[in-house]
Amino acid sequence: MAEQSIAEVAARPDTEHSTASAHRVLYDGQCEICQACVAWLRILDREDKTLPLPISPEILSTVDSRLKLDECLRQLHVVTPEGEILVGWDAVASLARLFRPTWIIGTLGQWFPFRSIGRPLYGFVARNRYSLSKCRGGACRIAKPEAVRRQARLGAFWSCYTLGFFIRLPLVMWAGIKSAMRRISIFVRTYHQRLDLLDGKLTILFLNGFLPNTVPLLFGELFTTVLYDGIAVDPGSPKMRRSLRRHLRRIKPRITKVIATHAHEEHVGNLNWLSELTGAPVYVSEMTARFLTPFKKLPWVRATIIGQPPNLKEPYRVLADTVDTEFGQFKVIATPGHCDDHIVLYDPREKLLLAGDAFMGSYFATPNPDVDSRKWLASLERLMELDIEILVEGHGHIHTLRVDIPDFPGVVIREDPKLAISQKLDYMRWLREQIETGFREQLPVRVIEASCFPWGRRTSWESCATDECIRLLSLGHFSRTELVRSFVRSDSNPLPTVYEVRLSGGE
Ligand SMILES: [Zn+2]
Repeated sequence: MAEQSIAEVAARPDTEHSTASAHRVLYDGQCEICQACVAWLRILDREDKTLPLPISPEILSTVDSRLKLDECLRQLHVVTPEGEILVGWDAVASLARLFRPTWIIGTLGQWFPFRSIGRPLYGFVARNRYSLSKCRGGACRIAKPEAVRRQARLGAFWSCYTLGFFIRLPLVMWAGIKSAMRRISIFVRTYHQRLDLLDGKLTILFLNGFLPNTVPLLFGELFTTVLYDGIAVDPGSPKMRRSLRRHLRRIKPRITKVIATHAHEEHVGNLNWLSELTGAPVYVSEMTARFLTPFKKLPWVRATIIGQPPNLKEPYRVLADTVDTEFGQFKVIATPGHCDDHIVLYDPREKLLLAGDAFMGSYFATPNPDVDSRKWLASLERLMELDIEILVEGHGHIHTLRVDIPDFPGVVIREDPKLAISQKLDYMRWLREQIETGFREQLPVRVIEASCFPWGRRTSWESCATDECIRLLSLGHFSRTELVRSFVRSDSNPLPTVYEVRLSGGE
């Protein structure tokens, strides 16, 4: 399926379109029903047989001069590769015939009596789609918060958003099942495994534990300890200790320092234990040390699944700007955002970044309650100044194009780390704009949240089932709502829930 911007399509000469080999589908990009149908079309069309184009005067004039704007807005128009224009039900049937799962519907649909039933039925939906899809004006497609305020009352916005969800529900469920199968496959392949890279200089130990295993299975985050040039980074939680001990018995690595990137429970629970086992001192940032002495009481879900870490024992050392590895040196860079005390470790010689949780994929949408996304943005901007060839995440993913890192599907992601960070930056900047505008327009938090996940964006519905599952199982600790809150957090107002109360109170 080819996806092109309006500008790209409109810039093309007429001749190129008339010889195009795809069925050009002209749909109303401001109608939730039409957009949802295009989402279905994109799933069915694996061979680029169609090219959906949102209707605009420029698009119509470049596709075919016979097309009229008001007629196209009234019902679906499809221009076939042969230049034939099909309209309404006949256009639907012609599209259905292109794909195996819907071929029978399309074929029957062109014959009596199905055609005589299909035509008035299509006409009814086409005539009434605006009263179903109420926020006409594009609020759901682009979900611009100012557009929501200006063009649609909230009731209309919600009816439209809900309709968009239900038309896509089978797609949402299918995407949820597919990503669950992917998570299971990665979990099985990494279970009690380790990954030796760079001639043994870098080792990723995958950590498991009976209850901790639910996290990679349900959410896809793997637990790891990274060994790099004599340093052990983030040694897991007490409930993963057996797994870590098993690894250490097997490979007997030389560990001279134990470092934590931040004070989250799955990263710091074995600091004392590993230090006592190996005799290697613990290094943490000053703020991490403060968070660990004493370690706050975790919410019971997290304490049950991951395990409550013990307080950090003296003596420990505070990280300076650099820390020596066995044969080189790490730069220690403060990267607040994921949490206030986060640091990353950068080896300029190898161009390798141990990013901890400062980078968790480009489209991470369910943060923990202590995320401050504005600080995170600034941290990622700082990371963009580094020359990075290998980026190792704290939860098992490695982003690199380097050929000396072998393939490991689901773990090694073949992309330029800097490109991955810049995509994350673009996404977060877009989110910041959406959220800041939403608050300026005094929209309720729920509406702002919806505007950050418009159904027109494929990732919104593809990750919907997983995100909502995470919200449910973490009892709301990790959710899309936290993503909105993470952009409005300020030091003077540390209680994020205040925002929701204040806003709904002022509504
Ligand atoms: Zn974390």
